[in-house]
Amino acid sequence: IPRVNPISLSQLPLRPELVGEEPYGAPQLDVPVCLNVNENPYPPSESVRRQMAHAVSRSASGLNRYPDREATELRRALAEYVGFGVGSDQVWPANGSNEVMTQILQAFGGPGRRLLTFTPTYSMYPEYARNTHTDYVTAPRDAWFGLDAARILAAIAAHRADVVLITTPNNPTGTTVPVAVIEEVCRATDAIVVVDEAYQEFTDTPEDSAIALLPKFGRLIVVRTLSKAFALAGGRVGYAVAAPAVIDALRIVRLPYHLSATTQAVARVALANAPEMLERVDELRETRAGLEEWLRLHGFDVVPSQSNFLLFGRFTDRHEVFSRLLDQGVLVREVGPDGFLRVCAGTPAETDAFRKAILTILPRIS
Ligand code: PMP
Repeated sequence: IPRVNPISLSQLPLRPELVGEEPYGAPQLDVPVCLNVNENPYPPSESVRRQMAHAVSRSASGLNRYPDREATELRRALAEYVGFGVGSDQVWPANGSNEVMTQILQAFGGPGRRLLTFTPTYSMYPEYARNTHTDYVTAPRDAWFGLDAARILAAIAAHRADVVLITTPNNPTGTTVPVAVIEEVCRATDAIVVVDEAYQEFTDTPEDSAIALLPKFGRLIVVRTLSKAFALAGGRVGYAVAAPAVIDALRIVRLPYHLSATTQAVARVALANAPEMLERVDELRETRAGLEEWLRLHGFDVVPSQSNFLLFGRFTDRHEVFSRLLDQGVLVREVGPDGFLRVCAGTPAETDAFRKAILTILPRIS
């Protein structure tokens, strides 16, 4: 008998909709300059790291017990961070906004229900839908990758959407949807409206958030993450902000003890040090703005971004450009419309390396 069973994936009775699917994956390559997954390039400070180590060590003394299922302390800290008078009964954390979004579809999507998104947008959305047996439908953004209320409402009506997901700033375009548009949509639909604000802290006006609309609309859910501006992608914490009844719905579908005691401890330290965790956001916003201008000066098409990344092109063969950047140790992302690449703001040295790499492979157009 062989040590490992030789059965292949195609011999397994996989759910039909999973046949031929591959696991999600931006390439995780060991290269000097990683500008491909919109992370914050700065690790937590020495002082925050020490506090995290201490908190994890303290929580380890209770690791024989299950963690707080309701993440009470963490929710309190998140509510305080979010502001807008939000209470801890309006906040729900999970392992990244990936998990939050999956829980939203487990509660409000499912067989016979439809999730609507506006393309081009985040590539994980169809996977959340597939994994929760929710139908996935899309409508295009306008020529500038923007959205207005008429376009959103027409698509909701045309697709009879049960859940509509609006990403602002949008990944991979970096374009935003004004809060006034979201308000108009919420006023005119019965659908659950999810606003993915993963990159909100990078915008010029972070306080302009759909969270302000929550008192008016019970079916509105705003999803955020500590993975981006907050520099905690490895900690895996995202959260929903919504009416207490919506949070109750998410509590029904969550796995018991979904958020480990270790995660909760680390996230609480991060939130207790919020100003420090966020201190590079202004710099990253400026880096993105500078890079946007630089790329435009060099003749590229650049989508105006309110995030920490940029979509730029146009290339007849974007894969060729991607590969040649990679040859020079610079990893960007092949996503979005044909002919475009996405790059995120790094440290000054990383961003310089990207500029140099681009210049060596492209004739200057200026
Ligand atoms: N939403 C958007 C728009 C994103 O770009 C990402 C990460 N790339 C996420 C959600 C997921 O982030 P996380 O699960 O790390 O919170």
